[in-house]
Amino acid sequence: NMSCKYAIVTGANKGIGFEVVRQLASKGVTVILTARNEMRGIAAVSSLFESGLTNVVFHQLDVCDPASVECLVKFVKTQFGTLDILVNNAGVSGVVVNEEGLRALNIDPVSWLSGEATNIVQGVIQQTYRNAEVCLDTNYYGVKRVTEALLPFLRLSPSGARIVNVSSLRSELKRIPNEETRKELGRIESLTEAKIDGIVEWFLRDLKQGKLEANGWSIMLPAYSISKASLNAYTRVLAKTYPKMYINCVHPGYVNTDINWHTGTMLVKEGARGPVMLAFLPDGGPSGSYFDQTNLAEF
Ligand code: NDP
Repeated sequence: NMSCKYAIVTGANKGIGFEVVRQLASKGVTVILTARNEMRGIAAVSSLFESGLTNVVFHQLDVCDPASVECLVKFVKTQFGTLDILVNNAGVSGVVVNEEGLRALNIDPVSWLSGEATNIVQGVIQQTYRNAEVCLDTNYYGVKRVTEALLPFLRLSPSGARIVNVSSLRSELKRIPNEETRKELGRIESLTEAKIDGIVEWFLRDLKQGKLEANGWSIMLPAYSISKASLNAYTRVLAKTYPKMYINCVHPGYVNTDINWHTGTMLVKEGARGPVMLAFLPDGGPSGSYFDQTNLAEF
């Protein structure tokens, strides 16, 4: 019975997260729509309310801010006491793109994003150390922060909580050129959180010291790719630790949203399909798996 289920979606004021909230709420789930910006979050809840969805509530959540996470925990504790679905959707690309600059250089953002171009173009597509740090703090550490804080409530979900980590195609290990990372993150038997953290730290150190190319990290959107590959690895570790839960990660598809400057070819409605399917996984379904949209895929 979906009407007594509680869900939280992060980064849900727009894009795929917003659509996931809409689809979950349409099936009767009580959803906490979270956003880092209060105004944007409340506007999102209002628009759902106006469309007839009265089972969505707002709570502020900046996944990078431990105090904000703590505040959400207090809210869940006092309002619901349990949590059935957590969709870790909030994410950033880790690069800043000057769209006019792209056009001036005659670079097509679509071909750049699809990997035909090979370099971060200075002054047009920038990944500063700070951008990269924020990217990893949001897409990887942010998910850990939020999930760990909510685990006590997720553990109380009667038929096993569903955790959905919104990942990306760019997480796939075959796309990561650094061989040691590919090996470490792919070795499920010996994978630990500490090992994953170690890889993230190693990447950031190399970035700071200008060693990305020398140490085999050269890849389109380096911080983003590493953040999502680490997120997938974390998903597998977590799934092993909590065998009663259903914990999976998913590439939503190439979806038309702000994160790719609206170069995506799918509608958000289609992009939400994979995450929503995993939020509603039937009992006995997979855990610790990676999906490309609604299909089981290779890490
Ligand atoms: P959007 O840029 O539309 O949405 C991203 C959301 O994340 C926004 O609500 C944003 O809030 C929020 N966010 C960013 N940082 C934080 C933070 N620190 N705390 C809380 N919320 C935060 O992009 P999408 O909807 O496309 O992205 C959703 C997820 O899907 C991401 O994880 C992305 O990596 C993944 N994805 C998307 C693909 C696509 O083609 N669109 C492809 C592969 C993966 P704000 O409005 O305040 O910035």
